[in-house]
Formats: sequence, C-alpha cells, structure tokens
Amino acid sequence: MLSSKKVLLTTAFSKGTYYDYVGSNSPSIFIRASYPRIISYGLRFLKQNIPSIEILEYPTWREYTKKLDEGWDIVGFSFYIDEVPDILRMVNEARKRGISEIWGGNYGTLTYGVESHFDKLFIGYSEGDIARELGTEIGGVIHPPLVTYLGNAGGLKNNMLGIIFTTRGCAGGCHFCQTPAFCNKPHKISLESIDRVLRYYRDVGVNDVIALDENFGAFRKHTDEVVDLLDEYGFQWGCMIRGDILSRKLSEWSERGLRRVLLGIENLNQENLDAVDKKENTKDILDTMIRAKKLGLQIIGYYMIGFEREAVNSIKDDVAELSKLKLDVMQLCVLTPLPRTPLWDYIDKKFGIERDWSKFDTKHLVWKHPNITPSDMEELLKWCFRKLNPGRRSARSYYRKYRHYKSDYGALGGFIQTYRDVYLANSFNYRDVRIFQSPEKDASS
Ligand code: SF4
Repeated sequence: MLSSKKVLLTTAFSKGTYYDYVGSNSPSIFIRASYPRIISYGLRFLKQNIPSIEILEYPTWREYTKKLDEGWDIVGFSFYIDEVPDILRMVNEARKRGISEIWGGNYGTLTYGVESHFDKLFIGYSEGDIARELGTEIGGVIHPPLVTYLGNAGGLKNNMLGIIFTTRGCAGGCHFCQTPAFCNKPHKISLESIDRVLRYYRDVGVNDVIALDENFGAFRKHTDEVVDLLDEYGFQWGCMIRGDILSRKLSEWSERGLRRVLLGIENLNQENLDAVDKKENTKDILDTMIRAKKLGLQIIGYYMIGFEREAVNSIKDDVAELSKLKLDVMQLCVLTPLPRTPLWDYIDKKFGIERDWSKFDTKHLVWKHPNITPSDMEELLKWCFRKLNPGRRSARSYYRKYRHYKSDYGALGGFIQTYRDVYLANSFNYRDVRIFQSPEKDASS
C-alpha cells in the first residue's frame, strides 16, 4: 500500500547562477556557448515514476527554507560531490526544523564520509527502490520530458534541447570513472517510453535532441531502434559516445540526422590513457573525430590534463597540438581522483588527496601532483581555455547550425527555422515540472 508520507526531494540550493557545463570552459564573457544546469534529470525521473513525491530544483536558500516549513516526513537530497558542503548545510537546516528522516541520492552519495549525515542512501538509479520504500512498485521506468536549452553568454537562448537517456549505467573498467561504482548493470529505457518523449518534443517544437547515456550504443539493437525513431521524427540529434562505437556508425548516422557528438579524447598520450585503463586508442579517436568534422558534425571533446607524468610545459605543447583540431567546444577536466574508483586508491596511496569536496569539480587540482601545484594548474587552465575555446569558435558553431538548415530548407527557410528556434527557446517555461499523466495523455504540469 502506498505510504501517506510526505516526501520532498531537492537538489543543492542555487547561489544565483546555474552551473554551466559548457560555458565554464570558455574564457570569453561575451561570445560563449552556454548549457546551464537548470533542471535535475534525476529528480524528474523520480517525479515521473513516483508522482506522489514533490521535487525542488536548484531553489534559492530562501525558497528551500520556505518549503521546509510546509512540513515533511522525509526530505531527500540529490547531489554531486562538489555540492557536498552545501548539501550538508541543507541537511542541518532540515534537521533543525524537525525533519526526522533524511535521504541522499545521486553520484554524491559515493563520497567518503557522507553516509553518517543521512538516514538512508540510494546509490544508483533508484526509482524502484524509492517506490518500494514508499510501499509501492513501479513497472518499467518511464522516461519524463526533459527540456532544456543551449544559449549564449548574453542570456539569449538559441534553441531548445530535448534530452533522452536510452540506457543507464556502465560496467566498463575506466579507472577514473565513477559510473561502475554507481550503476554497473547497464539497462535500457523502453523504446515505447522513448517514443512518447520524442513525440512530446516534436509537439512542443524541440527539433534538437541529445542522448546523454553514459555509454550510448552499448545495446546495439536498441540503439538502432532509437535511431530509427529519431530519423522518423526528423530530429537533428547528438549523443555522448565512445569513439569506437561512433566510428562504426558515423557514416550511417550522419545521414540520419546525427549533428553533434560528445566524445572523450581524454588525452593525446597513449601511456596516459593506458594508465587509467581507457579502452580506446588515441589515434583511432582522433581519426574518428576528423571524419566527423569532415561530415560537418559539431564536436564537443573531453580532455583531461594533470596526469602524473605531465608538467606545465608538456601540457601546453599537447594543448597547442589539440587546438589545431579546432573543435567546437573542448571540455577540459583536471584529472580528479573520485571516491570508489581505482584511480582514487592509486593516487591516494602514492601522492595523497585533499578532502575539500567543493574543489572536486574537475577544475581544481585536488591531489599532490609531482610536477604541478594547484596555483600552477589554475593559471594553466585559463591558458588552455583561451587556446582551445576562443569566442569565435562558438560563433562558428551557430553558423554551422544555420548551414544545416540552409541545406535542408534553402536560404530563407534556414533563416526562418533559426528564428523559430530562438523564439521557441525564449518562450518555453523550463522550470515547470512536466510529467506524463497516463499512457494516453500527454505531458502536463
Ligand atoms: S568512461 Fe564511459 S566507458 Fe568508461 S566506465 Fe565510464 S561510462 Fe563506462
């Protein structure tokens, strides 16, 4: 029987700005692509599958405390590692106000030492576990609508973006990655559920979809069926994917709407990749990238700096080489040992790791590197951002999108489509939590 307990699930509070995955890699304050984290994908999945819970996404501190005053049996927190100090402040506030049961979820739960602050931790994708905790069962997981946007530094929203997850989890063995500790049983989201989300996106005017699976393409048949749907509905789409999988499918998918790939190069030196057990070969990844670029795809590359063999000058040399690829956006990460990964165990034993969790945002050096100090790294990052993500590069990405439209609809049609994207993106209410009410009805707030 469904429990009558009042449950509030929230993210960390916002300090006036949203975390910007893309913008945080750019030195320009004027011409800069932005992809702010304005909604919580995890909490929307939970709300979709257990509608009786209430969710709060990046509330201000005031909104959070006001909400607490409504009285709750359980308050849960969905968080990442760099949010731990803020979440513990929120937990204390909830306890002070007499909330008797506190839950924690999302990747932040893997952080050493947090367990003592919570009555229950949910590690992994937890719709089923939370439902059971509340006395009910869910069937298959239903994918909620997840609409966000791509914008620029001036605050203008360029186009809506429909997010999909076609699978979740990964059992791969990359030493730096927390996913195998979070969810090592990859599983599919049903095609039926993905189909409904895609239909919703089409109906509200989204024409740009991106699959943010940890490992898109891992289930080949399922992925082929998802691509059939994306193609059938006429979306421009993108995915976060491994180079070897992309290499196999690049030609076919680029003819079926693939316009953007998020690809981990990780590092130009094979010895560094071998050290973290990254299964791919640098040369193969770069070859795939060059092919993708020739096909006109937007490429967002991930690159890690700060391996133990590296020093400031060697990183500068590699980054200068990398900049010749002229990718649309390069997401730079400082090699960060994350809790419950083989990399953590290795670095902690050999060099030592500091435990200021707020710095675990991949933009700080959090361990005692043999050749680089934290302040060297700060300066180096700024240098790398200037080299890899100059403002003109994001301007070129916008132009490329227009060119795709132009080739599909002609010059005037391309302009109209671009205007339509901007108009819709600036009219949509992203903070409205929309869920599907029943198999028949569409999403509503
Ligand atoms: S980096 Fe990608 S492939 Fe490797 S373990 Fe993590 S999710 Fe899996």
